[in-house]
Amino acid sequence: MGQTKRVAVLGAGISGAVAARRLIEAGLGVTVFDKGRGIGGRMATRRVADSGLAFDHGAQFMRAQGANFSERLADWTRRGVAGAWDALGGSVGIPGMTAPVRDLLEGIDTRSDRTVTRIERTDGVWRLAIAEGAEDDDFDAVAVSFPSPQVAKLMKASGLALPGLDVPVYAPCWSLMLACERDCPLQAGPLSDGSGAIAQMFREDSKPGRSAETVQVVVHATPEWSRAHLEETREQVTRILVGAIETSLGTAVRPIHASAHRWRYALVETALNEDCIYESSLKLGACGDWCLGPRVEAAYDSGAALAARMIADLA
Ligand SMILES: Cc1cc2nc3c(=O)[nH]c(=O)nc-3n(C[C@H](O)[C@H](O)[C@H](O)COP(=O)(O)OP(=O)(O)OC[C@H]3O[C@@H](n4cnc5c(N)ncnc54)[C@H](O)[C@@H]3O)c2cc1C
Repeated sequence: MGQTKRVAVLGAGISGAVAARRLIEAGLGVTVFDKGRGIGGRMATRRVADSGLAFDHGAQFMRAQGANFSERLADWTRRGVAGAWDALGGSVGIPGMTAPVRDLLEGIDTRSDRTVTRIERTDGVWRLAIAEGAEDDDFDAVAVSFPSPQVAKLMKASGLALPGLDVPVYAPCWSLMLACERDCPLQAGPLSDGSGAIAQMFREDSKPGRSAETVQVVVHATPEWSRAHLEETREQVTRILVGAIETSLGTAVRPIHASAHRWRYALVETALNEDCIYESSLKLGACGDWCLGPRVEAAYDSGAALAARMIADLA
């Protein structure tokens, strides 16, 4: 019997997580690296220290159209990893949006706080350069699951090229996390203060498995506004967005918590329209929502497609 082939999966969002799960199930060795403090990528749950507050400040909910993701979502729902969020007719992770990603990565060697800055292949063996310190592992193949501009940056730094990375286009999104006492006037839905800043407000406390002690809201700014204010500080954006909400409601909100998060690559505006990229000669592939569209399900399908290509090539 030959040695177990080893794959480095770069990125622990939903696309990297499903790729890692499928590769492990096929008998390959897998290590996952992510630059974040935690896992989940844009399926993130931000906990505010010492406050009991938690916000899904990226993806709000999931919907399944195709058979693969429908089956997975049904399994998560059966096991309490996800549940129906009736307010928007979708499903959410329980207790937060990260839960489904955590479930996929269960038992898989996953290393956070690992920013991969370069990859290098010598005599058929891949090594990774990590900003936070050395990792000595060797890999037979690499699956990159970052947003496409970040894949392109890694390829450039590594002197490599993958076709099609210049096609996808992302819109940014500023996301505001807001908590208020129960009697505050914030409601879910679109809001207009006339400035075009706010796209949608979501009531976190109406999701299954969340605390309803306070009103917790996530506010997404519009793509246009987010683009125009992309390089402002979190504090500036927090101030402007809270002001826009107060103008639109005609009353003060008096938040007990308010903070903003910049998603530089939030929602795919133009997709590649291929399920993944894979170069068999290099044993190098890339996946993510940018392959198929701006949805959790698209990212999931892309990660599964890349794993299938790698398994056919390596196993
Ligand atoms: C504000 C917002 C709202 C959204 N709302 C919804 C919604 O309601 N429904 C829906 O279906 N979709 C929604 N989406 C889209 C959905 O979140 C994404 O399509 C999906 O989560 C993308 O998964 P992914 O695995 O492709 O990428 P990501 O989740 O971005 O994962 C990529 C990972 O790569 C890591 N990474 C990047 N560079 C490096 C590096 N150099 N080294 C190591 N790690 C690195 C990142 O830390 C990240 O964890 C929303 C997105 C945002 C931002």
